[in-house]
Amino acid sequence: MHELYLIQSMIDQISSNAAEQGVERVNRIQLVNGQLSGANTEALRFAFTLFSNIPLFQYALLEVEEPGLIGRCNSCYRTFKIEEYRFICCYCSNGDIEIINGQELYIDYYEGD
Ligand SMILES: [Zn+2]
Repeated sequence: MHELYLIQSMIDQISSNAAEQGVERVNRIQLVNGQLSGANTEALRFAFTLFSNIPLFQYALLEVEEPGLIGRCNSCYRTFKIEEYRFICCYCSNGDIEIINGQELYIDYYEGD
């Protein structure tokens, strides 16, 4: 379950930032998890519960946003939303497309006191 390592590194990142900023309690974490990031949102949420004994994160709420997939056609160069994992251009039906949005996984922001 590599989600555990992803959450561990998120915890480390926020912990060191919180220490720098003098934050003693994290209230909310906003993660962005693209549909093709390779990380499962439910597994991320579960992994996060394993760290709830850390005082800094005791009251933290984990929010996960799952942005849609955006592709760009290598034939007509238009960008479009990919629905239901249909990896073809919706303008010219070309199958040679690039995923330009949907593989990301990052901390958008966190809030704390
Ligand atoms: Zn096209």
